[in-house]
Amino acid sequence: MGLKEQIALLEASGWHIAPFAPDLQAATGLVAGGWREGWDEPVWRCPECGASPDPALWEVEGRAVQGWACPACGALGLEEHLPRERRVIHRAWTAEELAQEVERYRPRPVARSLGEEVRRKEAWARERLEALLEEVKSAPSGARNNTLASAAYRAGALLRRYPVGGLEGVLERLVEAAVAAGLPRAEARSTAERGLKKGFEGGA
Ligand SMILES: [Zn+2]
Repeated sequence: MGLKEQIALLEASGWHIAPFAPDLQAATGLVAGGWREGWDEPVWRCPECGASPDPALWEVEGRAVQGWACPACGALGLEEHLPRERRVIHRAWTAEELAQEVERYRPRPVARSLGEEVRRKEAWARERLEALLEEVKSAPSGARNNTLASAAYRAGALLRRYPVGGLEGVLERLVEAAVAAGLPRAEARSTAERGLKKGFEGGA
């Protein structure tokens, strides 16, 4: 598949891509760059003053809950009080990475019946769940708890729409992924449970 076809395929999946000029390709090894809209994510920005809040654990009804404290204005809050934003994702690819990206977005067979469409969506949801677990497993040490909370929430939202696993089973897998990343088991369980439940019930 040529570069033009690869770009056309990815643009059909929501990317906006421009190939790089030959001299830039030669200098950097990158063949193209582009952007797409990402997922809604909490933004670590104080809703009062806009400064960057520090993560802090608060106790709510006897449970440890991920929260924050703003060093600039003294505001306190929970993660769910942070603003949410759909961030733009920017990327540049080498020829090899572009081929891998295309493979990820490879068009599935067009649905011929409702059953096929449902199976296609479930296959997508299963892949999405694995990607979330991988995100938790590979979270850097300063972001493990936040990554777990966010992934658990998204896994819950996924389970609400697609029957790709039971809540209990997915909870166990999230906990194992977080423990593999180095999070203490008890902390992992409470964060994962809370996020999963919130996502599943459709809370903000
Ligand atoms: Zn503030």
